[in-house]
Amino acid sequence: MQLQTFPRCPPSEGNMFLVWRRLHKWKTHDRIDMDGKFFGDQFFLKNLTRGKRCFSRRTGASISCSNSIGKDPFIPSNENVTNAKLIYAVAPAMGHNQESHPESNFRVPAIVNALEKMELTPKFRGSKIIELQNLKPASVDDIASVHARAYISGLEKAMDQASQQGILFIDGSGPTYATATTFHESLVAAGAGIALVDSVVSASENCQDPPIGFALIRPPGHHAIPKGPMGFCVFGNVAVAARYAQRVHGLKRVFIIDFDVHHGNGTNDAFYNDPDIFFLSTHQDGSYPGTGKFDEVGHGDGEGTTLNLPLPGGSGDIAMATVFDEVIAPCAQRFKPDIILVSAGYDGHVLDPLASLQFTTGTYYMLASNIKQLAKDLCGGRCVFFLEGGYNLESLSYSVADSFRAFLGERSLASDFDNPAILYEEPSTKVKQAIQRVKHIHSL
Ligand SMILES: [Zn+2]
Repeated sequence: MQLQTFPRCPPSEGNMFLVWRRLHKWKTHDRIDMDGKFFGDQFFLKNLTRGKRCFSRRTGASISCSNSIGKDPFIPSNENVTNAKLIYAVAPAMGHNQESHPESNFRVPAIVNALEKMELTPKFRGSKIIELQNLKPASVDDIASVHARAYISGLEKAMDQASQQGILFIDGSGPTYATATTFHESLVAAGAGIALVDSVVSASENCQDPPIGFALIRPPGHHAIPKGPMGFCVFGNVAVAARYAQRVHGLKRVFIIDFDVHHGNGTNDAFYNDPDIFFLSTHQDGSYPGTGKFDEVGHGDGEGTTLNLPLPGGSGDIAMATVFDEVIAPCAQRFKPDIILVSAGYDGHVLDPLASLQFTTGTYYMLASNIKQLAKDLCGGRCVFFLEGGYNLESLSYSVADSFRAFLGERSLASDFDNPAILYEEPSTKVKQAIQRVKHIHSL
């Protein structure tokens, strides 16, 4: 059965859809009944009877995942974090994979390999860089702070079916799949983010300049809406961490920056009425899922604490540097956050196959460096990055690695990776208009 059997693929998803067509080699699959109580009317579940499964849970990265849900994530000792500039966690979800799907289990290992190659791991940097070990899954209660319990239990129950049938499609957009390990591995991904929040907050209580956290996790999270999965995303990792930071650490005001090329609609929806969580998303205008318009600014008590900035296709380094200076920084300064969380998607890179912005390795270095400084200026340095998109393994890897260098305060190596010859002129007039419009709406 071919791709046209997918009932929902929004027109706005054009690029993603085309790439998907190109990459995908579907085998026969049949629609099965779905319990609407669990996923709601708009979700459906399919099985792929001959889909490929991969049950390897580990990569070359040093990680071990607990099989039991724990309440106390591993936190490095205060002594260890005093000198660290960076704490990261690796949760590659090796069993959550579908052959030829862009959101594949090659992604995190590719990043880890680049970090090794560029000598950005504890092996090369000693106490400057810490890799969190013994990651534990988030608890169902943690996930339920953002998602409907019916969705969580429905996904857990679907795992039996997944193990019998190989792969399930849990949402048409993307499409989003699940394998037999998806539930557990998605809990581990969210748990890694939570553990990094614990570590960074703990460090900030003992030093002025705590390390930045970076969750190298998948599946990604920012499209997952409160009642279900969406757009490759299963649980809203950054949203779960935001609620956790509030509940467990008493950090009332959370500022979320989402620079993935797609609108973080799931995070947007989770906090649309919440005045204490500011969600700021930059994304390519017209890209998947088509939400994130200028006038989506929050509702009720949360009116004004959602900022959406759709950028015209072709926007690149100059556009994003201006956006940081004129929108992100003043917005954060006005909000006065207690912690900054970042949905770090690398699919705005000029080489990424799913979109058409012109970010470069240098753009991501600038963002990492500036956001680190913003956190230092505004909230005691408390800041955790969460991996979202990024589907060209090379540009993804080097962009994350150069972000690591920014956190370490080292110079960018972007000129080694970026090729200015492939860039074309940014649509500066349209960018300027977009920035002016968002500044006007939000009185910046
Ligand atoms: Zn994306």
